[in-house]
Amino acid sequence: MTSKHPETLALHAGWRRDEATTAVAVPIYQTTSYQFDSPDHAADLFGLRALGNIYTRIMNPTTDVLEKRLAALEGGVAALAVASGQSASALSVQNLARAGDNIVSSTDLYGGTWNLFANTLKDQGIETRFVDPADPEAFARATDERTRAYYAETLPNPKLRVFPIAEVAAIGRRFGIPLIMDNTAAPLLVRPFDHGAAVVMYSLTKYLGGHGTSIGGAVIDGGNFDWEAHAARQPALNTPDPSYHGAVWSQAVKPLGPIAYILKMRVTLLRDLGAAISPFNAFLILQGVETIALRMRAHSDNALAVARYLGERKDVARVIHPSTLTGQAADWTAKYLPHGMGGLVGMELKGGAAAGRKFIEALKMFYHVANIGDARSLAIHPGTTTHSQLNEAEQEATGVSPGYVRLSIGIEHIDDILADLGQALDAASA
Ligand SMILES: *Cc1c(COP(=O)(O)O)cnc(C)c1O
Repeated sequence: MTSKHPETLALHAGWRRDEATTAVAVPIYQTTSYQFDSPDHAADLFGLRALGNIYTRIMNPTTDVLEKRLAALEGGVAALAVASGQSASALSVQNLARAGDNIVSSTDLYGGTWNLFANTLKDQGIETRFVDPADPEAFARATDERTRAYYAETLPNPKLRVFPIAEVAAIGRRFGIPLIMDNTAAPLLVRPFDHGAAVVMYSLTKYLGGHGTSIGGAVIDGGNFDWEAHAARQPALNTPDPSYHGAVWSQAVKPLGPIAYILKMRVTLLRDLGAAISPFNAFLILQGVETIALRMRAHSDNALAVARYLGERKDVARVIHPSTLTGQAADWTAKYLPHGMGGLVGMELKGGAAAGRKFIEALKMFYHVANIGDARSLAIHPGTTTHSQLNEAEQEATGVSPGYVRLSIGIEHIDDILADLGQALDAASA
């Protein structure tokens, strides 16, 4: 495969046919184990002198195709698929930071990631320093000698302000700190590695799967970060690992390519914590990946049309969409999302929380769910659901006003999308 076009890679990367049966579709290898060729072969696999299947908690041929395809689409060197986006974000940090270390993260995060960082990783001794991404230098100011990673989302909702990837990645590289990007809301629209990020993670549950059938996550290694050159900054990859015969990861896997980060994650964290994706879910997500290029285009076109429509409604106080931002936020949108701004749209209803509630109730085609990135159109009123544990001041800080409604625009015909929104808005202001 020499083609670099994402439409083509999404169908072909990582697979030609099943060598045993010549099957064209990627089979579901529903097996836990793999027979070794010989005792030497088994020893080589365990000793990482050869890469191959040992046990499905650590690798699986169906999952392997998904991983290769995601790495190819992203322009990375290797990927690790895991049980959920949550486990992908946890492992992406735990692979570098240990108790006593810290990371610097954007404040604009998915709620689950916020909880993970502010509570669960904190309890494990890993501190997260949250900074406002509008000021990239804030990452530098929050950095100390125990900072191991920077973390951010490309297109965080509800604010939908695109993250300054290159600006923060460059600051990190000065210190020997990799930028980990959660690109869940913008697959194919932007490739964070092209802008200097070192690691990309996804919730595959959202756009990449797209059918709303399967939970999954992935971490992709850009292969573009020199861990060895920053030995003091990155001890996890540069000191002997007692959990793997004292391997020093930046050295041990050199013959296999620049995959130290992702290989360590597979053979230590995934081995120990066990957040493996099932082969069946990997298969289902592969079915989604095949059409991701078409869908992201349709999501982006439809969401832009919705944003324009809502901008003309008298009962809508404000439309939140990358196209409605001004100043620096608009410049970053133009820089990072020139080919499409994704499927998310927010709106603030003039009628506040009561109107938000009525709007949700009146929707006929849109589903009322906590999800995003489905091929179907989805809506939620965060004030009474996803953000209801926060008080009003905290809600405002995260960008959620009482009348805020989040829309994840699907790939239905735009006329049907606008018709459902229109009748629900009419009902909400009646
Ligand atoms: C959903 C989501 C996650 C978590 O993914 P799961 O697959 O639900 O575990 C992480 N980041 C973002 C941006 C998400 O939307």
